[in-house]
Amino acid sequence: MKYLRLSGLEPLIITPESNFINVGERTNVAGSKKFLRLIKEEKFSDALDIARHQVEGGAQILDVNFDDGLIDGKASMIKFLNLIASEPDIARIPIMVDSSKWEILEAGLQVAQGKCVVNSISLKEGEEEFIKHAKAIKRYGAAVIVMAFDEVGQADNLERRIEISKRSYDILVNRLGFPAEDIIFDLNIFPVATGMDEHRKNAIDFIEATRWVRQNLPYASVSGGVSNVSFSFRGNDTVREAMHSVFLYHAIQAGMNIGIVNPAMLEVYDEINKELLELVEDVILDKREDATERLLDYSEKHKSVKKEKTEDLEWRKNPLQERITYALVKGIDRFIEEDVEEARQVAAKPLHVIEINLMTGMGVVGDLFGSGKMFLPQVVKSARVMKKAVAYLQPYIEAEKDGSRPANGKILMATVKGDVHDIGKNIVSVVLGCNNYEIVDLGVMVPAEKIIQTAIAEKVDVIGLSGLITPSLDEMVYIASELERQNLDFPLLIGGATTSKAHTAVKIDLKYKNAVVHVNDASRAVNVVSSLLGDRNKEYVSDLKNDYSDFREKFLNRQVDKDYVSIQEARENRFKVDWENEEIFTPNNLGITVIENQDLRELLPFVDWSPFFRSWDLHGKYPNILEDEVVGVQAKELFKDAQVILKRILDEKLLTAKAIFGIFKANSNETDDILIFDENNNEQAKFLTLRQQAQRSKGKDYLALSDFIAPKSSGKTDYMGAFCVTTGFGTDELAAEYEKANDDYNAIMVKALADRFAEAYAEFLHKKVRTEYWGYAVQEELSNEELIAEKYKGIRPAPGYPACPDHLEKHAIWDLLKVEENIGVYLTESLAMFPTAAVSGYYFGSPYAKYFGLGKIAEDQLKEYSERKGISLQEARKWLSPNLAD
Ligand code: SAH
Repeated sequence: MKYLRLSGLEPLIITPESNFINVGERTNVAGSKKFLRLIKEEKFSDALDIARHQVEGGAQILDVNFDDGLIDGKASMIKFLNLIASEPDIARIPIMVDSSKWEILEAGLQVAQGKCVVNSISLKEGEEEFIKHAKAIKRYGAAVIVMAFDEVGQADNLERRIEISKRSYDILVNRLGFPAEDIIFDLNIFPVATGMDEHRKNAIDFIEATRWVRQNLPYASVSGGVSNVSFSFRGNDTVREAMHSVFLYHAIQAGMNIGIVNPAMLEVYDEINKELLELVEDVILDKREDATERLLDYSEKHKSVKKEKTEDLEWRKNPLQERITYALVKGIDRFIEEDVEEARQVAAKPLHVIEINLMTGMGVVGDLFGSGKMFLPQVVKSARVMKKAVAYLQPYIEAEKDGSRPANGKILMATVKGDVHDIGKNIVSVVLGCNNYEIVDLGVMVPAEKIIQTAIAEKVDVIGLSGLITPSLDEMVYIASELERQNLDFPLLIGGATTSKAHTAVKIDLKYKNAVVHVNDASRAVNVVSSLLGDRNKEYVSDLKNDYSDFREKFLNRQVDKDYVSIQEARENRFKVDWENEEIFTPNNLGITVIENQDLRELLPFVDWSPFFRSWDLHGKYPNILEDEVVGVQAKELFKDAQVILKRILDEKLLTAKAIFGIFKANSNETDDILIFDENNNEQAKFLTLRQQAQRSKGKDYLALSDFIAPKSSGKTDYMGAFCVTTGFGTDELAAEYEKANDDYNAIMVKALADRFAEAYAEFLHKKVRTEYWGYAVQEELSNEELIAEKYKGIRPAPGYPACPDHLEKHAIWDLLKVEENIGVYLTESLAMFPTAAVSGYYFGSPYAKYFGLGKIAEDQLKEYSERKGISLQEARKWLSPNLAD
């Protein structure tokens, strides 16, 4: 008989008599925040403990996934699977190698012992890709999960599920001879009771599709991620658990035999409250028109009980110090003035209230944060309580001429010249402020001279530099060398998204005799500063210097592919399109369009929330992050707080959104430029693109964005677009309003939300261009998740990002569209955009167009580039420095 046979050290044979097979997913970076953190910190042995817990908890297959932008997925997969192999109690069960990248799947296949499952392949990228991967999986002898996904999109009804699984099965079994028993269909479990009519059949369609697959596609299995189904009831675990049990009860009867289920989120079917059971069955099986409403009512009733609990004011009965500490730890400012007043009346001096009562509380906050028991948004809220308390005491302190509050030290913070990003800097300032450091905040776009003069005049103890865009890296090097030249000795903190330990060690530390520390994590800032200013600081600094110099040496001697092909060879191996036979879509509209006063409400559904949480140091994918075992509670609270500000922004129309874009005739040339033509076919602009040069394996292309545009020599007219969107007008004013009210939490929130809106606008406008203005994708129907996952045809690469890291090219967009004249977004000297909440880039409509990373380029291309651009070699080197081969 043909059974799905998997194995770790022990076999797992899945027969019709087998019980439901439960896949553990806590070893998935998207499924567990804790696992993600451990992998990021390279704590592999702790990560192994999670795997062990899963096995002990009854998981029969272990899903392993490292898809996260900040992790080297391939290396982690290899390392982790190798580690598992030497732990017999884990290696007992089969592995499910999970990734959206083939390269990682294949790496997993090569090291996994026993017979594993690949998660997943699909027809999303077309048959050719599907067949290639299926053949490889067959050769490796693994089983495979096939997602119900094809070129058109994800299957979301019964017919599409049947259509795609049948087609996949036919290709696999009939054409490739893939063992039918090694096929597991993931038929997409989607939420029900969302309030949308088209979602009402989501569960029942899955169940029916399962029945169909089991009856018509012999030996194939069916799987799915169960928690999705109850998604609209997040926050109400009782309802969710009941929904999971009811769903599984029916799905298993229909033939679902494998699935990802959190055993803690399952209620025993027979023990579900009878009233709830009926309501849930109505929803899952779509039995009544008003099923959703009835379940919502039930859920609401249930929730109100919970709410009363959170409003518990028991703590108000505690002694004074405990109340103050509690308010600070919990970030509750409602009673703080009252409590501080009580403290002031018994204190010898008003200042003592800060020094003793408040600092005691903040000490607890610091310890909790330091030990990972409190998260960044909470600390920023604590700081808000602290500020409010201090503001209340200030008049009393002044009246008594009590002297100023003695700080632990004075720290200058600045975003460097040319850069406008300050969320990270503000967060670090708040955290340091909480720990009784006095902050001198110079804001954004601060020239080196001003930083240095202020540091001297204010006698600060430390200078903190921040920046987000790559040109800021050079500015930081310059500041370090200026400090050195002027014989100054302020320790330097370096932070911001593009900064790194490598850049700090290799480029900055070298220029400066004194301390330079890369601090990219608000939670580390306090430790670093207290070590820099502590009694044993000499020792600390000398250790630091040694560490950076060792790091530098290792970094410079590391084994990297130092091989680059000549630009000529790279061009010969460009991405080739058969332009002769290529049909190019003629855009519905050519020319430039300006949109003033875009309604923000319309953008809201397009927001990608995951980066919002990341800006607050909470890592994980939205919406799963709200349920995350480690950061879920915090994430939910942060999200709730965000809604308050969001509502204000929308109701009072506090931010103004504007956009400009153009669609033009275009052709590429021999040297990777894209020429833009006006309606009379006169050359109107030129976009310079750069080509990959780092040695690739044989037969692989060396990409440049110009490959996606028909060359002039083809004689064909092609098209491309350019755009700039902003939602940033009004941000600074609104943030300043909160700052003035001592509310840094909401000031930071405003900026983080404005950034989200800008990205959402880019997404929204891109869709409009694809489906209307350009019009090549009229049929497109993608959910927001699919948009975020870039499932659409065409791309919108942004200068400064991996495919086109050259910020200078923004000038070409600004000149062509007259961006500043039209919508008021301008470029700083480092080519950051202002207002900060802005996105600009190009539109490519070709079905071949894809995002990629340029990587490093060699000297020959750099030289040629400086000539193409008409700038000195030195200048070209400066702008492209992060992309030059070392
Ligand atoms: N959904 C995310 C998008 C972040 S990427 C968010 O909301 O934050 C930001 C922008 O960079 C994208 O909108 C796209 O315009 C561009 N981009 C993404 N990948 C790129 C690449 N490899 N090269 C060039 N630009 C890229």
